[in-house]
Amino acid sequence: MALLDVLKMGNPLLRKTAIHVDEIRTNEFQQTIDDLIDTMRFQNGAGIAAPQVGILKRVFTMEMEENPRYPNKTPFPLYVAINPEIEILDDTLINSWEGCLSIPNIRGQLKRYKRVLLKATDRNGNHYEEKLDGFAAIVAQHELDHLNGTLLIYRMESMETLSFQEEYEKYWL
Ligand code: ZN
Repeated sequence: MALLDVLKMGNPLLRKTAIHVDEIRTNEFQQTIDDLIDTMRFQNGAGIAAPQVGILKRVFTMEMEENPRYPNKTPFPLYVAINPEIEILDDTLINSWEGCLSIPNIRGQLKRYKRVLLKATDRNGNHYEEKLDGFAAIVAQHELDHLNGTLLIYRMESMETLSFQEEYEKYWL
């Protein structure tokens, strides 16, 4: 198991646009995927994108099992999303309280689409499409943003909900 350092907000790599992945079945890239999964799980993240560990490639992983950072969230299985795209299935916007491994101990509320279609390639090189709803849809949108250099804070219409984790749990949850 290899744990990678997660870059924090302010690191310029987090504002870069990641590049398309051409070579999926190389040892190096497969190792990157394993490291992303290990790091995501170790940090109790719902997802992680390669730029967050300083790798500017279009890949993210997401998974939700029992997670102390996200109590009461509906679980979803592990997705490895290479060269992902998102199609909006329902343009209803929902309020989303989000955190980010690159912005530790901070929560903020923003709007996300309620239902999306995640179109991506898996780690074996196979294309897949998955309809995602609710929290899974939110996580996919959050992670895709990382591939385009966008952090959740940039999408907040108002900073009034910007909260430290402890205050979020105390006053907003
Ligand atoms: Zn994030």
